[in-house]
Amino acid sequence: MNRIVFLGTGGARVLVFKQLLASGGLWIEQADARISLDPGPGALVQATKRKLDATKLDAIILSHRHLDHSADINVMIEAMTTGGFNQRGSLLAPGDAYEDDPVILRYLRDYLKETLTIGEGGEYSIGNVTVRAPVRHDHPGEVYGFVFESPGCRWSYIADTRYFPELADHYRADVIVIHTVRLEESEIYHLSIPDAKRLIEAIRPQTAIITHFGMTVWRAKPWKVAERLSQETGVKVIAGRDGMRFQLPGPEPSED
Ligand SMILES: [Zn+2]
Repeated sequence: MNRIVFLGTGGARVLVFKQLLASGGLWIEQADARISLDPGPGALVQATKRKLDATKLDAIILSHRHLDHSADINVMIEAMTTGGFNQRGSLLAPGDAYEDDPVILRYLRDYLKETLTIGEGGEYSIGNVTVRAPVRHDHPGEVYGFVFESPGCRWSYIADTRYFPELADHYRADVIVIHTVRLEESEIYHLSIPDAKRLIEAIRPQTAIITHFGMTVWRAKPWKVAERLSQETGVKVIAGRDGMRFQLPGPEPSED
């Protein structure tokens, strides 16, 4: 079974630090791999609360070093490796998460089977899942989104970025997860709801999921925003909810 569990749908500083919404990123189960993606503040607590066992993780992936995405990365490494007793698991992160003022503690790195530095156009394997980082995003620091692909399942994760026209081409997939911090367009380095609409219209996925809400989207009630986007685009758009389990497409059942 392929699925995404939302360990948090809050994004940006104010909402996260008030914990109006949880901020643990996504838990992914795809083609037998378990992945923690962007483990922000509370990821381990949220996973455990949802009966997801972080000692069984196969990989931890970071889109970028900002705290709302990375605050729990070290505790997740400890959990995945059982405090270093089991050297295992992969860590994928942009270079600036490892370098000076690193968000990934140096003493934990030896606990891992591999630490990989994400680069633009990079392609990585986690078990039978291929993870691609098609393009560097327009956001402070080094930021990537991802396309996750396994037999019968392709979905994309459009992390924090300012909108740019090529985004849609890089993230074509059946299911897209879009970080939508802002309700209205603005000059900050984040996607807004009008940007999400542009992406949905260009990609036309089976399902689009908006998440990583800032205050303006939260006040407008994300489920209402999603309903409006569905009506306007004709594509099924849903708003992430803390704890939501979303079933991803799976491989076709075999004939025999
Ligand atoms: Zn950010």
